[in-house]
Amino acid sequence: MNLNTTMETPVRDTVILGTGCAGLTAAIYAARANLKPLVVDGHEPGGQLSITTLVENFPGFPEGIQGPDLIGNMRLQAARFGAEYMHGHLVKADLTARPFKLDFGGGKNVATQTLIIATGASARWLGVPGEQALIGRGVSSCATCDGAFFRNVPIAVIGGGDSAMEEALFLTRFASKVTLIHRRENFRASKIMLERARKHEKVEFLTDTVVEDVHDASKQEVTGLKLRNVKSGKVWDFPTHGMFLGIGHEPNAKMFTGLLDMDQDGYLKTHDFVFTNVPGVFACGDVQDRRYRQAITAAGSGCAAAIEAEKFLEGHGR
Ligand code: NAP
Repeated sequence: MNLNTTMETPVRDTVILGTGCAGLTAAIYAARANLKPLVVDGHEPGGQLSITTLVENFPGFPEGIQGPDLIGNMRLQAARFGAEYMHGHLVKADLTARPFKLDFGGGKNVATQTLIIATGASARWLGVPGEQALIGRGVSSCATCDGAFFRNVPIAVIGGGDSAMEEALFLTRFASKVTLIHRRENFRASKIMLERARKHEKVEFLTDTVVEDVHDASKQEVTGLKLRNVKSGKVWDFPTHGMFLGIGHEPNAKMFTGLLDMDQDGYLKTHDFVFTNVPGVFACGDVQDRRYRQAITAAGSGCAAAIEAEKFLEGHGR
């Protein structure tokens, strides 16, 4: 592909796309290896941690740390060693030859010897009133992260796939009752996961039911959901203290369609942890990890990606 543009900057050693846990950890390691990484903020600077409240499972913080503070610290840490930040949305990339060429639109073009993709995955949301305003205040897309804040109170989980079953089962450790709300009668979840959830004494199922509203944004906490049965049309208020979304994630990798190997759901395929099918292009964090999706695993793979980028440059006569 010919991007047909003039490169405005000298060729970079490495460009890191994404400023979540994976991208910023890669930035810290790359910066300390003197690669002067250019780190690109995308549509959700800071990634999923930036929309969480207290993070209690990142090692090193016995009292927990606020997600935005954790991300802010990582950002400063990388900057201290020479990482540079830029805001941009990748419009086009040419990964057929090195240096790779990245076009961020509006005349912003960057050439780089290595590329670290840490663009993450975005949780799917319902898009109903009240939902966005209450994220981190009773609305969550991560049971592992936020479940422990819901001790001895009733909560709802939305979805009918394995994620929803897993979240519902995990949340039974804390909640007094978990109501799994699914829009259909049939489930996508594997039989074994569905059965486990069905058998659990704390889990109740509400099928053919959709959420129409999340209350109560004015109180800054979840007090209940407005539900509708899609078959009978019945609408009612359902009191609950939390709503966990288990309706899937979208990896942010569409811009690499046709350029890098992906699985059927659009996650980047990696081998040996962080190697993509293009030498010199590495992927880390949730854009290539559909299994763990934790801040610490994202950070670990970001570290690996930076180390591999450094080794790649050494092997190619940097
Ligand atoms: P998924 O299988 O795509 O299921 C998403 C669920 O959310 C579906 O039931 C879907 O309903 C529902 N949904 C989607 N959009 C919705 C909306 N706007 N409103 C209401 N409901 C909505 O996603 P997933 O559960 O995250 O699983 C993704 C993949 O990871 C699967 O291959 C799964 O097996 C795997 N996984 C495995 C495990 C495990 O084995 N431990 C755990 C988690 C995930 P419909 O069915 O009506 O479309």
